[in-house]
Amino acid sequence: MAKRPAEIQATNVKLLEELCQPGDFLTGKIRAALVRETFKATATCPSCRKIQEGRDSVLKRDLWNVVCSGGCTFHEPEECYGLGVVVHALCNLQNLMSEEWYKQAAEHVFKCLSATEKIPDTQADRMARLAEVIAVVGLAVGLRAFYRSLPEGPLEEPPIPAGVEGNPRYTSAAEVFNNLEPREGHGWGVGLKIEDVKPGLMVNGAKFLGEEFSKRKFMAVSPMNKWAPALSTGSNFLRWCSVVYSPIQHGYETPSFLFKKAPGRALNRVGLEDVAAGYTTAVGCSF
Ligand SMILES: [Zn+2]
Repeated sequence: MAKRPAEIQATNVKLLEELCQPGDFLTGKIRAALVRETFKATATCPSCRKIQEGRDSVLKRDLWNVVCSGGCTFHEPEECYGLGVVVHALCNLQNLMSEEWYKQAAEHVFKCLSATEKIPDTQADRMARLAEVIAVVGLAVGLRAFYRSLPEGPLEEPPIPAGVEGNPRYTSAAEVFNNLEPREGHGWGVGLKIEDVKPGLMVNGAKFLGEEFSKRKFMAVSPMNKWAPALSTGSNFLRWCSVVYSPIQHGYETPSFLFKKAPGRALNRVGLEDVAAGYTTAVGCSF
């Protein structure tokens, strides 16, 4: 295999492995189930498709109820630990989401996970777990889309590994950060400032560096801001992104590759943005 495809394949395989390992708060078993459900349901679930067909009459603030009563079929046992309704909304109905959906999803994830473990009953614990679910599903959607977009060729979709046994890194949000709050005016997700991260926090075997997500702090306007609450999955994303996207250093794309191609790359950053815009348009038309 040529060097560049081999490099991309290796980083995809590694990311898929990481997604099926224990995360910050979720077990490898649950993360692997989320990945499998995402691979199966994305763009194929007839119920989600039906909701998209009637999207003009869907009230975004009501999306949670619409999905719950939509009759989705789940590929994982017990409706993917009860999380299937969250997975389907994330992978198929992102354009219909709202702050209300986000709040209801956080509560639902908390209830589902509480069935098998004792979770501290705080808002930050709810949000942190939802952030990890979103990160895992989002990356699985990206991997799946990558392989579905390729013509028959040397790159084959890697098999999804079984969930790796072992405990997640943390048991409470308090171990990880002091504060996790919505950042007003910049969407309805939660954000994290670097000064709120517990000093000396170790992520993926190394001290967590906030610079990985932002130069100085997790600013609301930084595109990495949305990854901040999913610390280890966000770090995995950055490593992967540096191979498949524009090379990234200290959480920022290297600006010199805006108009110049990075070594071995077919596109510069501007070209990549064109492709991304084309993909978004294609996805918007697929329903
Ligand atoms: Zn569905």
